Amino acid sequence: MAYVHSINPSNQRSSTLTRTRRKGLRTPTELQLKLPSLLGASLDPSVVLEHFFDEIREDLEIGHLDLRCIDDSYSFQSGHKSLHRLSYDLNVDNVPLAAIGFERNALFSEQEMIWIEHAMVHLVKPLQHALLYRKACNTALTDSLTGLYNRRALEDALSRHVDHCERYHRNAAMLMIDVDHFKQINDKHGHMKGDAVLVEMSHQFHSSLRAGDEAFRFGGEEFVLLLANCDLQGGLVLGERLRTTIEQHTLSSIACTISLGLACYQPGESAERWLSRADSALYEAKKQGRNRLIPQGDKPA
Ligand code: GH3
Ligand code: MG
Ligand code: MG
Repeated sequence: MAYVHSINPSNQRSSTLTRTRRKGLRTPTELQLKLPSLLGASLDPSVVLEHFFDEIREDLEIGHLDLRCIDDSYSFQSGHKSLHRLSYDLNVDNVPLAAIGFERNALFSEQEMIWIEHAMVHLVKPLQHALLYRKACNTALTDSLTGLYNRRALEDALSRHVDHCERYHRNAAMLMIDVDHFKQINDKHGHMKGDAVLVEMSHQFHSSLRAGDEAFRFGGEEFVLLLANCDLQGGLVLGERLRTTIEQHTLSSIACTISLGLACYQPGESAERWLSRADSALYEAKKQGRNRLIPQGDKPA
């Protein structure tokens, strides 16, 4: 662990800490008795860090703790930014894991720094395990080609959206999207180019979403977008914007179009029924000639 002790001149705030602290710092043996079992009990890095922060504040006044993984895959912060900062690089088996910082309004003494270093020895392994577990969970829910959420993640998200709509009487819309004549694109340009088209298209979908919306690869060349707090009009606007964007841009130098089915959540319906209505609308869009958006229930005369 390498540390840097610095001062944040812009953060001169008084401490709002109201915890009762024990008198004196715990010995390394006392830390050894408490921290490993406490920190090893959770596989959620935020819980591990909250427990760690709570524990060290029993002995020391510390106003702020932050952590950032070296690969930027995770960050955490808790408490109020303060005047004095103590930073460490956390390594596991000589491999950099994260940078951690402690802040408070009083200077850290040499004895306190040594104590924090003793405490951090017990943090590194539980934190590493929690971060690995988090990564594995994310991988299990992510489509490896496009980086979008996969179908398994869609199942979880659908029940979350249904719960949210029912509990708070909110709207939600679903766009089911299928690339038109994608088999021909593969046949003409090869699978690698086909893959590149799917990746670029996924970026287009992802970048068009608002906070709270989510994009999923449903399978092959099919995608689902879940739009939170979105009504029919909102779904039509976004869907039409996506359709024209894809139509007007050549993805990986290949012209292609998409068909879309739109279904707004209807109170009381199941996630399966909602999905099946979006699928029927998509089927209708294909039937009507492709490169179009059809809201569920809008059948041709
Ligand atoms: P339609 O307009 O009716 O949707 O026609 P389509 O050709 O898009 O539909 P079809 O279901 O006949 O073909 C889908 C194609 O998508 C066939 C399959 O090889 C291709 N595909 C599925 N997954 C992938 C993938 O990950 N990469 C590539 N390159 N192609 C894929
Ligand atoms: Mg398809
Ligand atoms: Mg298709």
